[in-house]
Amino acid sequence: MARHRIGIIGLGKIAQDQHLPVIAASPAFELVAVSSQRGLGAPGAARSVREYAELLALPDVEAVAICTPPQVRHRIARAALLAGKHVMLEKPPAATTSELADLVEIAERAGRVLFATWHSQYNEAVEEAARRLEGERLRSMRVTWKEDVRRWHPGQAWIWQAGGFGVFDPGINALSIVTRVLPDPAFIRQATLHVPSNADAPIAASLEFGSGEGDAAMRAEFDWRQEGEQIWEIALETAAGRSLLLDRGGARLAVDGAVLVDRAPAEYEAIYARFDALLRAGHSAVDERPFRLVADAFMIGRRIDVEAFHE
Ligand code: NAP
Repeated sequence: MARHRIGIIGLGKIAQDQHLPVIAASPAFELVAVSSQRGLGAPGAARSVREYAELLALPDVEAVAICTPPQVRHRIARAALLAGKHVMLEKPPAATTSELADLVEIAERAGRVLFATWHSQYNEAVEEAARRLEGERLRSMRVTWKEDVRRWHPGQAWIWQAGGFGVFDPGINALSIVTRVLPDPAFIRQATLHVPSNADAPIAASLEFGSGEGDAAMRAEFDWRQEGEQIWEIALETAAGRSLLLDRGGARLAVDGAVLVDRAPAEYEAIYARFDALLRAGHSAVDERPFRLVADAFMIGRRIDVEAFHE
């Protein structure tokens, strides 16, 4: 079967680390063009351009993966859909919820596929946790997402700017797992955002959740000031007394202390397999729930100024 001819917009860290090698190894996709403001090219891509509009004007590009910072995603995705391209969005899918709603409407009207990716959802351990929690009542949830921003985001000024989401850039990965595995929807009840005095976006955040069902104690702690051990884990306890621990960013699941799934992540392979299936079926997939939780945390969050951050 013919491969989908795809272009990549924005050749930063995630495009280089994941999209390029995963497309190169995929039997379902063929990289035909890249657009890079810095003028980078990519092995295998016949065309490389500096302006994304030039890439969108290429008739043989059927689909694009938008790997820019979120602040510019809507503008680019909108232009891509209007140019007749199918669109894969890196996370977070836009800068605001109304931008995302706009993209959903445009994709529908244009009859194009829009796929909002949440890479952390594409783990077998996450799927297994969702299966095990189906129909259960929750007693507690504790999300701990603590990493060293200097190690994972060197030189990325956009994450500190308004619309860059700060610590919610990784935190939204945790929230995308939470919305995938919880048996009932969770809502932000309280949020505290710790914002460096020289930044627009938080370096740490504490969240308290409520749920439509029961009175489970549900909290999340995101912190970018973590040195030493990096922690990406979600601990859940059911009303029936079962404990689930998803750690390593969702790659490992233990139930009542026994490890059930422990797999090296292949998130982007799974994302491209899903995109292939969506393109063949002509269906969009936009899960807005993780994004709404972030928007709500910013909407009702109490802001605390903390010391300036210097890389
Ligand atoms: P990054 O290294 O800063 O790369 C973003 C790239 O986008 C830049 O290098 C630039 O590439 C392009 N770009 C920047 N400003 C632009 C603008 N105004 N208009 C058009 N293009 C622009 O960031 P990243 O880490 O790859 O993250 C990009 C997105 O992927 C973020 O939303 C992030 O949350 C998500 N993500 C990142 C990771 C990760 O591990 N880093 C993991 C999963 C998801 P060119 O100069 O080549 O155009």
